[in-house]
Amino acid sequence: MADVQKNLIAGEWVIGDSVIENRNPSDLTDLIGVFAQANTDQLQKTLDQARITQQEWAAYGLERKQSVLNAIGNEMMARAEELGTLLSREEGKPLAEGKGEVFRAGQFFTYYAAECLRQIGENADSVRPDIEVDVRREAVGVVAIISPWNFPTATASWKIAPALCYGNAVVWKPANITPASAVALTEIIEKQDIPKGLFSLVMGSGGSVGQRLVESPKVDAISFTGSVPVGKGIATAAIQNLTKVQMEMGSKNALAVMDDADLDLAVSLALGGAFGGTGQKCTASSRLVVHDRIHDAFVEKLVAGAQAMKVGHALEEGTQMGPVVSQQQLAENLAYVDLGKSEGAELACGGVRLDMPHEGFYMSPGVFLNTDNAMRINREEMFAPLTSVIRVGSYDEALSVVNDTNFGLTSGIVTKSLARATHFRRNARTGVVTVNLPTAGTDYHVPFGGRGDSSYGPREQGKAAAEFYTTVKTAYISAGPV
Ligand code: NDP
Repeated sequence: MADVQKNLIAGEWVIGDSVIENRNPSDLTDLIGVFAQANTDQLQKTLDQARITQQEWAAYGLERKQSVLNAIGNEMMARAEELGTLLSREEGKPLAEGKGEVFRAGQFFTYYAAECLRQIGENADSVRPDIEVDVRREAVGVVAIISPWNFPTATASWKIAPALCYGNAVVWKPANITPASAVALTEIIEKQDIPKGLFSLVMGSGGSVGQRLVESPKVDAISFTGSVPVGKGIATAAIQNLTKVQMEMGSKNALAVMDDADLDLAVSLALGGAFGGTGQKCTASSRLVVHDRIHDAFVEKLVAGAQAMKVGHALEEGTQMGPVVSQQQLAENLAYVDLGKSEGAELACGGVRLDMPHEGFYMSPGVFLNTDNAMRINREEMFAPLTSVIRVGSYDEALSVVNDTNFGLTSGIVTKSLARATHFRRNARTGVVTVNLPTAGTDYHVPFGGRGDSSYGPREQGKAAAEFYTTVKTAYISAGPV
């Protein structure tokens, strides 16, 4: 049996009571590793140690913290090829996307390294004479990070980097489907100049380790990315201890294609947005809201493009779309294909399981036509390489369809009209809006998050992250007579 990959508990690499196997979704004969599952005692021990070391870390000088974050980020960027290969092997996204994700994750660390030096508070005179007021941010304490499998390195990094930057301790529970990337990132963090036990890795299932972590009164703040039902459960658990919580939970993003759009651009944005990462993105373009006057030409090119996509092993040259992450996700995707057909949508192409030289969770990219926004395939997050075309008669109707959702993460418009682009930007009810760009793909130095069921709590990324990872202290100072 392969060596057990360990958890990092109170600064020590340890095995647990049980293990899970991690297999490559592109080739199920490829065993990536065997990973320890943390137990309750280990979780308690590491939370206690995190509490102690957090104060030590918060007291480090700013440049010392900055150099830790820079070292992490620089190593990730330097090793993007190697770590991206590992990521693609366990998650299934094409190698270029895996390498790109690791490089981007490194950039989160170097960005927040610089932010270490930009923590500047406010000063004011008190309303009372001869008294000054100093307003500054302090670390919130011990942060639990619960991350998903679809961006196993980037999502975790955009939480871990600001958590450390602002002086917090971190207890990280990664998704159990992608533990290898979590161990690799933890190894890089652990060897830095940080107090022993400041950063912990607690691999295990969400229902056991994850649930115990979010229920713990020893946690000061929880940052979560995943599904809406799990998010609601975490919020319920967090409120029992009045623990601060931040959640990002997916969406049903729409790309509006107007009659004046550049057709080729619109098709390429739709294909990338719908099928990049095998459609397993919270920012995926799962609803294509298309103006009647461009509809037929758009659909013809979209379907041809989807049919031409090369589905294959994530690590093989030329693969444009890898497998779905797991057997369960594949089964759910195929059930959505059946549901769409039963609701009256026309499956123009794809949406079927593929037999490939390697045994894996392969399916072809699927396009639904003749759909309306009331169908469940247009209301529920499928997290699948499936997209729906919704035909509309005007810009106003397009905007109303885009906004008719319980979610609100991203939306986009493809148009040459400045007036429509401006109106859309100001009236789309999403946290992120794009113009002539994909609905997926965001920067690290600006806020990220949504509305409705998509997000809860303060925004992530950029300077906005300080709101979640710090707490504000207001000090009143009377110097007394000279
Ligand atoms: P989950 O919400 O189940 O998982 C996300 C993370 O939460 C994982 O680390 C998971 O652990 C953990 N978790 C699960 N249950 C609990 C719990 N009770 N307490 C604490 N942590 C918990 O998402 P899935 O991975 O199962 O994916 C299901 C669906 O969720 C997808 O099809 C998609 O619709 C949506 N999703 C959205 C994402 C996004 O980016 N917004 C990302 C991932 C999923 P474990 O891995 O062990 O289950």
